[in-house]
Amino acid sequence: MDTFCPEIWPEDSTPASQKNCRDCGLFEQGSRMIWGEGNPKAPIMIILDNPGAREDREGNPMVCGTRQTLQRAAHEAGLDKDEIYVTYILKRRPIRAYDKEKTRAICMHHLEEQLQHHKPKLLACLGNVAVQSFFRNPELDVKELRGNWYEVNGFWTTVAYHPLAARRRPNLYPLLLQDFQLVAEEWDKLKV
Ligand code: SF4
Repeated sequence: MDTFCPEIWPEDSTPASQKNCRDCGLFEQGSRMIWGEGNPKAPIMIILDNPGAREDREGNPMVCGTRQTLQRAAHEAGLDKDEIYVTYILKRRPIRAYDKEKTRAICMHHLEEQLQHHKPKLLACLGNVAVQSFFRNPELDVKELRGNWYEVNGFWTTVAYHPLAARRRPNLYPLLLQDFQLVAEEWDKLKV
């Protein structure tokens, strides 16, 4: 029987010193900052492009489609939720058009601080935006990089499809699951 049930992972609150960040101008679009979610001390850090909403229009907590598919793949790969921390290239969800490259380059300093602070053992960048931003190469493609590990910015890193892509195109889900299984296998090796 399938025991999987998506749930709201605890939010890692934004440090007080960063709460009013206006560095890139995206704050003008009105979405709130989301620093990360899951276990901040987890050995595996997952990097997405930007956070989806954690609340619906009425302010009720919700688990968006990206989170549901991410959690399912992690669960089916045998990863425990306590082993995972999720964060983003952008800490705010863009609502309207914005200067993508410039904004991502500016917001990356928050992620760099998080990496130095958390020192995760493994990183997984999900989707082309996260991969291109973190690897600092706009030509890269998940399709070509997935299935391997890379030393990036001093961290042992793999790449995977974005959960939303796998949700919209179900034929990608088995590949996303393989990507999470690769993470689980690598973490198993490090644990011993
Ligand atoms: S997206 Fe990043 S850099 Fe821009 S205002 Fe938000 S936290 Fe600051």
